[in-house]
Amino acid sequence: MKRSFSPQQLDVRAFAEEGAQLSGETPLAAFARLAAEASADQPGQAVAWSARGELRNPGHLHPEVWLHLEASAALRLTCQRCLEPVDVPLAVDRSFRFVADEDTAAAQDEAAEEDVLAISRSFDLPGLVEDELLMEVPAVPRHDVCPVPVRLSAADPDFDAGEPRENPFARLKALKPGKS
Ligand SMILES: [Zn+2]
Repeated sequence: MKRSFSPQQLDVRAFAEEGAQLSGETPLAAFARLAAEASADQPGQAVAWSARGELRNPGHLHPEVWLHLEASAALRLTCQRCLEPVDVPLAVDRSFRFVADEDTAAAQDEAAEEDVLAISRSFDLPGLVEDELLMEVPAVPRHDVCPVPVRLSAADPDFDAGEPRENPFARLKALKPGKS
């Protein structure tokens, strides 16, 4: 019979031994640290995640315990160019290898390509999802193309370059077709 696994208290070794999978859609609000990054409340927003355990070299004396994690979310941030809201997609696709304890993990993490974590029988999977998504939050969020003209000010070199100074509001109108 298949065991059922709890994401909040995951027995990582058993999860890997069974090659088990867990997935879900968890409300963004459940991830307090991630939700705190958002510039506005996003009711209805969810974090989609899935995890798969894998035991590598199962015949070996010390088989490797792996966890493969995918997660995605869209976080509403403030564009640092136009100061309007921007929905930034966050996505994580990472693999983790679990070793006996924290010291071993710290010693191996530097050299290993994958992330190395200490094994646990009550591992906090949502905590890992949140940690990984937090690392994807951009320091300077920006639209690819801002939906509104970026600020017009006297400090703007384009603005000062012209001959007679235009009415800035006339110019703003000209940049917004259909609003004349
Ligand atoms: Zn923008």
